[in-house]
Amino acid sequence: MDKVEITIIGAGVIGLAIAAELSAKYDNIVVLEKHDSFGQGISSRNSEVIHSGIYYPEASLKARLCVEGAEGLYKLCERYSIPHKKLGKLIIATDQIEINTIEEFFEKGKNNNIKNLRLLDKQSVNKIEPNNNAVAAIYSPNTGIIDSHSLMKHFYNMAKDRGVLFAYNSEVILVNKQNKEFLVGIKQEDYHFKSKVVVNCAGLSADYIAGLAGIDIDDADYRLKYCKGSYFFYAKKSPVKMLIYPVPQKELIGLGVHATLDLGGRLRFGPDIEYVNAIDYNVNSNKKNIFYAGASKIIPGLEKMAFVPDMAGIRPKLQGHREETRDFVINEETDKGLPGLINLIGIESPGLTASPAIAKYVRDLTEQILT
Ligand SMILES: Cc1cc2nc3c(=O)[nH]c(=O)nc-3n(C[C@H](O)[C@H](O)[C@H](O)COP(=O)(O)OP(=O)(O)OC[C@H]3O[C@@H](n4cnc5c(N)ncnc54)[C@H](O)[C@@H]3O)c2cc1C
Repeated sequence: MDKVEITIIGAGVIGLAIAAELSAKYDNIVVLEKHDSFGQGISSRNSEVIHSGIYYPEASLKARLCVEGAEGLYKLCERYSIPHKKLGKLIIATDQIEINTIEEFFEKGKNNNIKNLRLLDKQSVNKIEPNNNAVAAIYSPNTGIIDSHSLMKHFYNMAKDRGVLFAYNSEVILVNKQNKEFLVGIKQEDYHFKSKVVVNCAGLSADYIAGLAGIDIDDADYRLKYCKGSYFFYAKKSPVKMLIYPVPQKELIGLGVHATLDLGGRLRFGPDIEYVNAIDYNVNSNKKNIFYAGASKIIPGLEKMAFVPDMAGIRPKLQGHREETRDFVINEETDKGLPGLINLIGIESPGLTASPAIAKYVRDLTEQILT
């Protein structure tokens, strides 16, 4: 029977970043992906924002890996000419109550070690971005946007050049611990092999893979909830040149209708929050009024007729609707009797930003297993 050192399940940005990182040190790595190429899941349906890490609870993995990841991403972008733009972001308060909230987030951001954050009054905001309804704002100059496909291609090429084997059309249906190794099986062919380490970064199916390996996902609190985020684009010239966010909703349930730009300068609003039972990427055009109202709260003079349904993505959330936000799970599962299995579960935003830092975190866990 064939044997490999490391099996990575899922070729989204997380699996690809991990493959690139681990292949610098280890040989005999295989990436299994159920689709016919990389980046067909969550990683190609998101806002492509390089977040700075303001919102996340202090000392959480989300906060730490976002800050480290953003720094790593900008270095990668410069070094390998990955398309990106450091546009900057404003989180705007539109009344006195919201000023109190942004002051709290400003402190949180400083505690999360975010560099160059500034609290601006109305006049100072208007100097850098005139078209908005701010009475005050947090300015994050280090927030940017990135071409996520180019980033994934970079990780893919790096891993491939270092000898990683990519097996597409390979849906994992078996992960079975046997003595010191895992027996891994795929659906498309009746094929099994052995692997010392299994890294589960299967995105929306990461809880299913953990279950396959023998973990009770309800006991472990690993069951994922699908949370859809829809976008509308603005079919006219963008009146803003940076990313504009309202004050986030309580418990970070959502960031509110916010304005992001893509690398072509196209303005879009979203993603909103809608818990769903199944994966479905249709955008409900009836949401136009809600998007228009939310967008008009932060940017004046928008034209309703220019709001056009765009795309949707699905977040793999560990928390249900209105429940307190949960951190990323990145666990080596020795304590569950499965040494050698590394689960990455609930890798929602800021997963894209954090990807290089998540890869280093997984490298450290892998080193502990393979020494
Ligand atoms: C609407 C939205 C907006 C977002 N915006 C941002 C943002 O602006 N900035 C940011 O930093 N992050 C953002 N995120 C988060 C970010 O997109 C994700 O954290 C990241 O893409 C997750 O990558 P992944 O590799 O874990 O998942 P995926 O890209 O989904 O990759 C998982 C892969 O596993 C494969 N797979 C699943 N099951 C199996 C199986 N049984 N066998 C083999 N393969 C399997 C899938 O086909 C898929 O290719 C956003 C997410 C959403 C949904």
